[in-house]
Amino acid sequence: MDRRKFFKSAGLVTAAAYVGPEFFAGSKGSQGSSSGGVTTVPEFPPLPYAYNALEPYIDARTMEIHYDKHHRAYYTNFLAAVKGTPLEGMALEEIFTSISKQSDAVRNNAGGFYNHTMFWNNLITGSKGPSPELSAALEKSFGSFDKFKEAFNTAAKTRFGSGWAWLYLNSGKNLAVVSTPNQDNTLMDISPVKGAPLLALDVWEHAYYLKYQNKRPDYIEAFWNVVNWAEVDQRYRAALKA
Ligand code: MN
Repeated sequence: MDRRKFFKSAGLVTAAAYVGPEFFAGSKGSQGSSSGGVTTVPEFPPLPYAYNALEPYIDARTMEIHYDKHHRAYYTNFLAAVKGTPLEGMALEEIFTSISKQSDAVRNNAGGFYNHTMFWNNLITGSKGPSPELSAALEKSFGSFDKFKEAFNTAAKTRFGSGWAWLYLNSGKNLAVVSTPNQDNTLMDISPVKGAPLLALDVWEHAYYLKYQNKRPDYIEAFWNVVNWAEVDQRYRAALKA
């Protein structure tokens, strides 16, 4: 599987759209263990903006550590966890469908690799609102945009310990909100609710503690200033067609 196909099938094609063809350059293939075929190794996706781009809402030091230490560790540990196994070279979305049968190392690091790549692309400087189409869908599912925001905030605030808040499109093609523990997401077979993730918010302490300390609600409120609604719209349209 080539890298473009890997990311497309992993739902990460939008990451590629931000970085252009150089993202796929310098391919480092490794020999597959049993088939003798070539397995390509996904590259660590570039951050689509500068570390300080989201200030004052998310500070540069947090972004640097979060991206270059935390996210990179999930990526590196994911590669190590699948190396030489049948999962090597498999799309993340495909791995998620049988994650209950995989090791904790695969579950945590495949999730961490995917979730953070999605999160960076969910953020932007100069946030604009959702499209009329997505606004109407949010109103239909939640009653109003404010009620959606309230539901999302509640999911993010009430996640005990580490995890994520999500807006996702469920199998009935309705928008819904949920939180997941650790690095789980709504694509995983172990998730109590399933669907296509559209908007992610990392509520691990490492995502906000340097600037906000224990004030998670302040970080959540700041997040709304940097939501990349164009990206959420794109994910929504793709999920509707899927
Ligand atoms: Mn994180």
